[in-house]
Amino acid sequence: MGKYKFESTEHELFRKTLRKFLAEEAEVHYDQWEKDHLIPLAFWHKLGQLGYLCPQVEEEYGGLGLDFSFGVIIQEELERVGSSLIGVGLHNDIVVPYIEAYGSAAQKSRWLPQCVTGETITAIAMTEPGTGSDLANIQTTAIRDGNHYIVNGQKTFITNGIHANLVVVAVKTNPYAEKKHRGISLIVIEEGTPGFTKGRKLEKVGMHAQDTAELFFEDCRVPVENLLGEEGKGFTYMMEKLQQERLAVAIAAQSAAEDMLNLTVDYVKSRQAFGKSISDFQNTQFKIAEMATKIELGKTFLESLIEEHIAGQDVVTKVSMAKYWITENARDIAAQCMQLHGGYGYMEEYKIARRYRDIPVMSIYAGTNEVMKMIIAKNIGL
Ligand SMILES: Cc1cc2nc3c(=O)[nH]c(=O)nc-3n(C[C@H](O)[C@H](O)[C@H](O)COP(=O)(O)OP(=O)(O)OC[C@H]3O[C@@H](n4cnc5c(N)ncnc54)[C@H](O)[C@@H]3O)c2cc1C
Repeated sequence: MGKYKFESTEHELFRKTLRKFLAEEAEVHYDQWEKDHLIPLAFWHKLGQLGYLCPQVEEEYGGLGLDFSFGVIIQEELERVGSSLIGVGLHNDIVVPYIEAYGSAAQKSRWLPQCVTGETITAIAMTEPGTGSDLANIQTTAIRDGNHYIVNGQKTFITNGIHANLVVVAVKTNPYAEKKHRGISLIVIEEGTPGFTKGRKLEKVGMHAQDTAELFFEDCRVPVENLLGEEGKGFTYMMEKLQQERLAVAIAAQSAAEDMLNLTVDYVKSRQAFGKSISDFQNTQFKIAEMATKIELGKTFLESLIEEHIAGQDVVTKVSMAKYWITENARDIAAQCMQLHGGYGYMEEYKIARRYRDIPVMSIYAGTNEVMKMIIAKNIGL
């Protein structure tokens, strides 16, 4: 598919350099990382050294002060290699923006420079064993005791959970708030804080190299200076920042869909059956034509959405639409591309097999697609 309209020669150069770096430093090691079930910290540090971590952060805090369009390119290129790299996009475009938007000057000076270098890896912990979609119902508490909050509770499915040394945690600072969401705050908890422990690394269907973990807080004393923004505003902050998170998931799903189509076009041209190339069968051509059309539709929608988001417009309904439609499109494309690969598509040495395992979770995280449809319906007036 073609490039976005907003891409200047600077963006093109940025993409080209990043793609070369990822080919040498990620693609060749990726299968091993999947077997090891971890991405080495050294890779994060290299990303940091080259300016690929949080390039949007203001220069005074060590970043490059670039806009989200460069983040889009990073998301796309990482996803082109594989979905296990989503933790980088989560750090860049999802967690660090909370600190940038709601952190005080002191908090930004304290945390942002290390987020840019990769010395600090971040995570966001909203989901708990008992609640995911119903976010207002979280049970982790942070009760004020002098100059500290005492945090108790458990989080699960946390991306970057193992590597993260700085976690933005959604907590109830007022468990008795009449409107449950008004009792929620965001607190930054650093690794090494007594009472904060990491659980096991969770075994997933796909994205094997991506670390996803449980986090535990047991009488964990967190200084009040680690409160992000105001007490009781945590839910509002999450609703604001979830828009970019959902957009990032749609961008990744679109990139994966394009990659799967490219892989499959190459494969069907090279594979022979009944004395012809698989690509000569009308069924193959129609399937490819259908997928290419849907990919083009997704790209056009995303392009306008990214532009509106960068311009600061309200994109809540459209982001929900994009997250739902583009991730489901990618899931359908994964199944169809696997089918067109025949038996080889089911073999681990073919990338489409890995894609088939990795893609479905995009319909689940960052708010399930059912939640996306609830938002769309509500905003339509139902
Ligand atoms: C690999 C992975 C990484 C993740 N990373 C993170 C992370 O970094 N940080 C974090 O906080 N969380 C993370 N999550 C959690 C993720 O956001 C949640 O799993 C998701 O929001 C769904 O919550 P749940 O699993 O509790 O499902 P539930 O809320 O229990 O939902 C189960 C099913 O019921 C449906 N459902 C729920 N409510 C309704 C309703 N009102 N109407 C119709 N259907 C409904 C859902 O759509 C879903 O199909 C991650 C999850 C995974 C799998």
